[in-house]
Amino acid sequence: MKTIGLIGGMSWESSAEYYRIINEGVRERIGPTASARCLLWSFNFAEIEDLQHKGDWQGLTARMVDAARRLEAGGSDVLLICTNTMHRMAADVQAAVGVPLLHIADPTAERIKAAGLKKVGLLGTAFTMEHAFYKGRLTDQHGLNVVVPDDDDRATVHRIIYEELVAGKILPASRDAYRAVIARLVESGAEAVILGCTEIMLLVRPEDSRVPIFDTTALHAAAAIDMALAG
Ligand code: GLU
Repeated sequence: MKTIGLIGGMSWESSAEYYRIINEGVRERIGPTASARCLLWSFNFAEIEDLQHKGDWQGLTARMVDAARRLEAGGSDVLLICTNTMHRMAADVQAAVGVPLLHIADPTAERIKAAGLKKVGLLGTAFTMEHAFYKGRLTDQHGLNVVVPDDDDRATVHRIIYEELVAGKILPASRDAYRAVIARLVESGAEAVILGCTEIMLLVRPEDSRVPIFDTTALHAAAAIDMALAG
């Protein structure tokens, strides 16, 4: 079994899900006492969030690269950045290490294409919904047609992530707000919705949407299991 290196703590609420999903998957595939070989580098998210909102992407890149190098030096065979937003510097992280970085958008897009779907709604932080690094990968590399919520809805989705989900608050009123945003994405033609922030799965379930939901946390973690157990 290969060793999975997790760059996490962004937030720890979602890193805990990665840890659970990866270990449950290995148990299912290998046997009841089997568990994943993995390393976790867990950031203080308060520091990360501060740099994000100040726009210090250079400082953030330096931190992601440092974490990746530590995990590689510790023996990781494959690396995961356990947040969509911090894939903004995925290319820099990959260039700094000799082991593969499993990009979160790829297993998600592969699953959407396998389901025969093309037009997808994207929920995530404002950074993920508004900047090219994420949507661009879905469109240019995977041929998907991506729709994002309007200005007000993006602000709501972003606020709930940073004020609630990363702070461990799961509020029914916010679930209702997400349901309404999803319904509007579906009205504008989305055939599926990407939960493009690794904490949204803590709030939103498949039954909150009329179209299929693709959860990046679960799909990224599942792809890591495949890589760890391959050949
Ligand atoms: N975990 C979130 C994501 O997937 C947000 C936290 C962050 O900004 O890294 O984008």
